[in-house]
Amino acid sequence: MSGREDAWGFETRAVHVGQEPDETTGAITVPIHLATTFVQAAPGQHRGYEYSRTSNPTRAALERSVAGLEGARHGFAFASGMAAEDALVGLLRSGDHVVLGDDAYGGTFRLIARVYGERGIEWSAADLADADSLAAALRPETRQVWMETPTNPMLTVVDIAAVADAAHSVGARLVVDNTFATPYLQNPLGLDADIVVHSSTKYLGGHSDVVGGFIAVDDEGLAEQLAFVQNAAGAVPSPFDCYLLLRGIKTLGVRMDRHCGNAVEVASYLNDHPAVATVLYPGLVDHPGHQIATRQMSGFGGMVSCILAGGEAAAVAAVSSTRVFQLAESLGAVESLIEQPSTMTHLSVADSPLAVDPGLIRLSVGIETIDDLLADLDQALA
Ligand SMILES: *Cc1c(COP(=O)(O)O)cnc(C)c1O
Repeated sequence: MSGREDAWGFETRAVHVGQEPDETTGAITVPIHLATTFVQAAPGQHRGYEYSRTSNPTRAALERSVAGLEGARHGFAFASGMAAEDALVGLLRSGDHVVLGDDAYGGTFRLIARVYGERGIEWSAADLADADSLAAALRPETRQVWMETPTNPMLTVVDIAAVADAAHSVGARLVVDNTFATPYLQNPLGLDADIVVHSSTKYLGGHSDVVGGFIAVDDEGLAEQLAFVQNAAGAVPSPFDCYLLLRGIKTLGVRMDRHCGNAVEVASYLNDHPAVATVLYPGLVDHPGHQIATRQMSGFGGMVSCILAGGEAAAVAAVSSTRVFQLAESLGAVESLIEQPSTMTHLSVADSPLAVDPGLIRLSVGIETIDDLLADLDQALA
């Protein structure tokens, strides 16, 4: 970012960084540049763009935008969150070791354990909120520690600076999946993380209409490696996808304020409900990670999980009978969603150390009118 942009507040950056008016036409929104190739005056004499897999003006705008929101020097957009994660795990070699959280996103676990595990990458799962569990998992060959906070679906809060310290003590890099918190609520690079990864499919897009991924880093050497892999492997988003993300990002701050406000109300409603055994939400004062969340986040997010007293049968009944909350995978968009992780988003981790309670339900609290959300839960839990 330039000096002036550095001083801007979050919402101003979300609307303007990377999204300056078009130089040739004055268009106030970033054009969708569909061109696959760019004309050169003489061989090698181009205006910064040659071929759209390598770089594209609409994608470049998105990369500047999200890097700006994360306070990062470099940003790389990918065709999905998993494509972004694949670019990072792909930096490792046979014999290298990875530590991941014991309630990591199921797809992250599948990528590291199944895809790369079968090619000689070693891995261990640890409770990253427990310093002893993390210390026991680290090895001299550990190259990456992967963490989420709040985690999915248990909403455990993990101290980013503490895990960064531990990772760095063995020479490993800390990767933080910032999908749940978004850069509006939490900036991991400012807490000593080395790499931030996003599924921009979720809050960054925010409207359930685009799949995307993102990596933000400060380190120059790492940025060079990622630019190489992004071009060499080519898992890039289309210009239209980049446009949809830029459009979503402009309202990220106002959406997150509403997601957080509604989630606080939903969590306290569930907390008082006799059918609910446990509510998992970092905004509740008795949540074990509440203090850390207060320190490292500027709000508690829009995700709420709870374990129903009636176990699996009650969970299936509840997620099947809401009307405003839609039963679907994914999260982070304007629509409220509800799901049962054990049979849906976390089916790929059944019978692994990451398996989840079948009585658990996960809510992605949207931006609808709060009274309608509470009334919907009331009839579904009755
Ligand atoms: C959805 C998600 C991913 C994967 O992203 P895709 O865009 O679906 O490929 C990774 N991490 C978290 C926390 C997610 O929620």
